[in-house]
Amino acid sequence: MSRFLLIGPPGAGKGTQAEQLSLAFKIPAISTGDIFRHNVKNETELGKKAKAFMDRGEYVPDSLTNDLVRDRLSQSDVADGFLLDGYPRTAEQVTELDAILAAAETKLDAVILLTADTDEVVRRLLGRAQEQGRADDTEDVIRRRLEVYEEQTAPLIDIYAGRGQVLRIDGLGEVAEVTSRIVEALERQSGTSSR
Ligand code: ADP
Repeated sequence: MSRFLLIGPPGAGKGTQAEQLSLAFKIPAISTGDIFRHNVKNETELGKKAKAFMDRGEYVPDSLTNDLVRDRLSQSDVADGFLLDGYPRTAEQVTELDAILAAAETKLDAVILLTADTDEVVRRLLGRAQEQGRADDTEDVIRRRLEVYEEQTAPLIDIYAGRGQVLRIDGLGEVAEVTSRIVEALERQSGTSSR
């Protein structure tokens, strides 16, 4: 069973690594950011509610985010494992996820913390802004996203560290190199192979 969280600042490379880990472990990668962006693009009710928060670099309210994740984790493809990318991001979301997992009589196997220093993440996000033109990748919004991460999400690391579940991985380097670091850390932790 592989049930993982991927935590780290914006720009640490969570989305990229989530894709790689999804392939390596044959589990769905669930990115709340991607789901919100998809909803914004398709102008769904959820998208309309989320857009203003996202454009400012603020978090979407917990009630909306929690409902979304509860629904996604009730689908059958997550029965044998999943990787959550970008959730939980607040203490209230941790409480919700704990409840969802408890109700399913299951638990997380590991929390992967992807680290990258602020200079590097700002550089990456500004680069991505030029390539992709994401609405929340302007310099002011990037700065706000980093602040919100420090205020609301960084404290979650202590919660999971207190449970002995955090694997701290250096997010700097080639994509494949970072993926290997994660896979090796997971193997060391569980004593089993992913393949
Ligand atoms: P990044 O990791 O680059 O900050 P994401 O693609 O993960 O970006 O998320 C983009 C935006 O979607 C966030 O800035 C936030 O507004 C919203 N979002 C994503 N996940 C959550 C969450 N768990 N709680 C609240 N808002 C979220």
